[in-house]
Amino acid sequence: MDLLDDLVDRSLRGEAPDREQALALLTTSDDDLIDVIAAAGKVRRRFFGNRVKLNFLVNLKSGLCPEDCSYCSQRLGSQAEVLKYSWITSDEVAANVERAVAGGARRVCLVASGRGPSRRDVERVAEMIGEVKAGHPGVEVCACLGLLTDGQAERLRAAGADAYNHNLNTAESNYAEICTTHDFADRVDTVTKAKEGGLSPCSGAIFGMGESDEQIVEVALALRDLRPDSVPINFLIPFDGTPLRGRWELTPQRCLRILALYRFMFPDVEVRVAGGREIHLRSLQPLALHLANSIFLGDYLTSEGQAGHADLEMIADAGFTVEGAEEPAPDGERHEAVAVRRRGPGTSLPANA
Ligand code: SF4
Repeated sequence: MDLLDDLVDRSLRGEAPDREQALALLTTSDDDLIDVIAAAGKVRRRFFGNRVKLNFLVNLKSGLCPEDCSYCSQRLGSQAEVLKYSWITSDEVAANVERAVAGGARRVCLVASGRGPSRRDVERVAEMIGEVKAGHPGVEVCACLGLLTDGQAERLRAAGADAYNHNLNTAESNYAEICTTHDFADRVDTVTKAKEGGLSPCSGAIFGMGESDEQIVEVALALRDLRPDSVPINFLIPFDGTPLRGRWELTPQRCLRILALYRFMFPDVEVRVAGGREIHLRSLQPLALHLANSIFLGDYLTSEGQAGHADLEMIADAGFTVEGAEEPAPDGERHEAVAVRRRGPGTSLPANA
């Protein structure tokens, strides 16, 4: 297909598809899906070989959020049955990180619900980051604490954080449909602050919330403007008790086309399949590894993923290798392919983080 040949050529030169090409890719038929995956897979292999990076979420504080993001099980007034708790202890963080490292995770994501951190919250997380780094200097630490104010990114960086996650989530033209307590510009501002504060920007989106193809492309172009180092792609988990309950509009094939688009948009950037991987891609999950080069291991924020050993088996069966598994860890630890399945505080979150 001319479209696919052109997209591969452009991506290998580091150029993004134009809007028309992006829309054309999203409207290719299911009959063309394997060709689409093969084309985007060439780009993935050029920049990332067969490596898959593993990431692990630690939920520091769950539920009880004053914001009203309609996809989120932790939102104001959510009736979703998720754990609600305020700040786990440093020992609980350490125990979660031990399991993550043993499972092969290269990055741990320390996540807290809420609009944004207070000064005290930042100090609390800074201390946790220092402890994680002291125990595991080779592990990347990403903080995800909501909207940042001036100086907070710099403080987290000084404490040893490597990255900051804040997703744009959906196109600016769709933002008011999913949230009224903050806006798209607030999200862009936080990603910018994180970057200016010396943190590696991680920012992605959620799909399956009623957005149009044009809006899928719109948010991809907005993300590209921010030059993130990693781009998590979430597929909506329509939790009961949230306004988007029961919204099942994705097919595994559509999820794969979205992932292919993001690979072409971000040829040499980490593209991560995040929340909703298991329930939306289902038996087609291994095909996503030909597009994304990064996944979360085990569970998400407020939903369970498949057991860690199943993820590791899937990676091996599909012919991929866990990033870093072949190298001795810089901190002298041995990474083992062990099952990772977490329970209790620190272990469950929005899937749509
Ligand atoms: S996504 Fe974050 S800010 Fe929005 S409701 Fe959920 S926890 Fe709160």
